[in-house]
Amino acid sequence: MTRPVEEDCDSQLAQQLSLLSETERKHVLMVLHRDGDLRRHEERRLKELQKQIDQQEGPSVPIDQHSPLGQFCCFLCSRLFYPIIDKRLLCRGCHYFVCHGCATYEHHTGSWLCSQCQKQW
Ligand SMILES: [Zn+2]
Ligand SMILES: [Zn+2]
Repeated sequence: MTRPVEEDCDSQLAQQLSLLSETERKHVLMVLHRDGDLRRHEERRLKELQKQIDQQEGPSVPIDQHSPLGQFCCFLCSRLFYPIIDKRLLCRGCHYFVCHGCATYEHHTGSWLCSQCQKQW
């Protein structure tokens, strides 16, 4: 069942946006601003997580990969993974997530090996 009142409101809004470029610009800015807020919120969340890790255990203490923390930070140096910048790498030896600094790419296997496993292999 269609509701003409709502439809009218929508079309009015669309008309306003197309006519008033300033309103549209403000709307776009608002969306962009909100996006930035979300990113800042995410960064804050990760920093909080880093703080928790620092308090809980030293960098040399391995993190249990099955704990939620293992999904977010390198199990060797406890460095947090940031999407795009610091992608987590799966070690083919121990199947833990490690950072770029703690892993070496093996061209012959096409996979990553953490520094700990490198000593063993
Ligand atoms: Zn690391
Ligand atoms: Zn490994």
